[in-house]
Amino acid sequence: MTRVVYVNGRYMRYAEAGVHVEDRGFQFADAIYEVCEVSEGRLVDETQHMDRLARSLAELRIPMPMSRRALGLVLRETVRRNRVKTGLVYLQVSRGTAPRDFLIPAGGLAPTVVCLARRVDAAGREQRAASGIAVKTLPDIRWGRCDIKTVMLLPAVLAKEAAATDGAGEAWLVDAEGFVTEGASSNAWIVERSGALVTRQTGDAILPGVTRRTLLDVLSRENIPISERPFRVEEARAAQEAFITSASGTVMPVVSIDKVAIGDGRPGALTRRLRTLFHQFAELSDQYHPR
Ligand code: PMP
Repeated sequence: MTRVVYVNGRYMRYAEAGVHVEDRGFQFADAIYEVCEVSEGRLVDETQHMDRLARSLAELRIPMPMSRRALGLVLRETVRRNRVKTGLVYLQVSRGTAPRDFLIPAGGLAPTVVCLARRVDAAGREQRAASGIAVKTLPDIRWGRCDIKTVMLLPAVLAKEAAATDGAGEAWLVDAEGFVTEGASSNAWIVERSGALVTRQTGDAILPGVTRRTLLDVLSRENIPISERPFRVEEARAAQEAFITSASGTVMPVVSIDKVAIGDGRPGALTRRLRTLFHQFAELSDQYHPR
C-alpha cells in the first residue's frame, strides 16, 4: 500500500495527494512515466529507466524537471518512506498545468512530477510464474510512436480488460500485417523449436523495454541465439516456449495463446532459466535499508 506520494517537491499523504484539474497529463495524456522494480529495497536497472525517461521527455519536448541525480533521490526517498522492499516505484512527469488549449503555452510550463511506490506480493508473483499465464491476441489500435512511454494507455487498458474477461493475464497486440508487436504492458518473446529466441526489433511499434534490453545482455553472455524480428501469431502458437518481459513481472512464462497450449502447456525450461538469470545480470542501485 502506498502511504506517501511525492508531488512537485512535497511528500504528501496518499489520500490527500493530487495534481491540478488542468494538468495536461489529465486532459491530454501529455505526460510520460517509468515503472522500476524494487528488489531488496534497491532500484533495478535505474540507469536504463532514467535513460528512457530522458528520451521520452526529449521526444515530446518536455524539459527534464530536475537533474537525473535529483530524480534518483526522489525515487529512493519515495521507496524509503513507503518501506518498500519488494515492489515497484512509479514516476510520472507531465508537461504541467495550463488553461485547456491544444497549443503548448509559449515559454513552456513547469512539469508536474509524481512518484509513488508500492509493495508487490512476491509470493503471488512467483506462483503466477510457476503456473504461467494465458495470452489473448487483439488488434494493435495504438498510435505510431509506441516507443515513447506516454500515459496514453487507453488501448492497453481495453486490451487487458478483454484479455482478463477471457481469463488471460496479458494481451498480445497484433499489427495490420498479422505480426505481434508486443504485450499491452510487456514485450513478447517466443522460443523456436531450434532453441533460438525471437522478439520484435525496437522501432516506433514497440516500447524498448528495459527488461528486454537486460535480457538481451543475458542471452549474449550465455551464448543463446536471438533473432530480433517480427513474428506472426501462428508462429507463436507453434513455438516451443513463449514469455513476456516487464519490470513488474521480469520474465513471465506464457503457457497458452488464444487458448492454444504452447509446448506442453507448462512454463518452458529456457524461460524458467532466464527468469532466474535475469536478476543476476540486472543493475541494482546502491543499498538502502528499509526500516
Ligand atoms: N511494452 C509496453 C507497452 C509496456 O507498457 C511495458 C511495461 N512498461 C513494456 C513493454 C516492458 O517494459 P519494461 O521492461 O521497461 O518494464
